[in-house]
Amino acid sequence: MYLMVFDLCPGLRYPREWVIVMHEVGIIQAVMDEITKAAEDHNITKINKVKLVVGKMNGALPDALEMAFEILTPGTMFDGASLEIERRDVVLQCPKCGAESTVKDITFFCPECDARAKIVAGRELYIDYFEGDEEGEGDTGEGSDGAEDFARQSAGGA
Ligand SMILES: [Zn+2]
Repeated sequence: MYLMVFDLCPGLRYPREWVIVMHEVGIIQAVMDEITKAAEDHNITKINKVKLVVGKMNGALPDALEMAFEILTPGTMFDGASLEIERRDVVLQCPKCGAESTVKDITFFCPECDARAKIVAGRELYIDYFEGDEEGEGDTGEGSDGAEDFARQSAGGA
């Protein structure tokens, strides 16, 4: 099993404007392209799982993302892979009192002091990680011991 952590790779965080003009199919296609590139660099030939983080204020709809994934993946290295979507809460930061708040309903005002606050989380859409098999690994049915080490390395450096 191969685990690659994308958490610290800012190149994979899509700007909000870009996400809004693209439909979910385009988003999934872009996600698949990014992962395919990364997978090829590491001799991964089959993807087993993809995890996306989607902020609650991001325009992309999770149901539509899942549908797009089902439509686009057959016949590719993603065939049969599972898609996990984590919905990230909207977080406000108040410029006046500095409080950070997680909001249930969309609001732009600080619940602590009612000042107009800045949205600091909730608009994101990025690949958290993907899992896959390296070339030939599927034949043996045995996992690779190196996977976890690699994930740690990527999270720490690169
Ligand atoms: Zn405040």
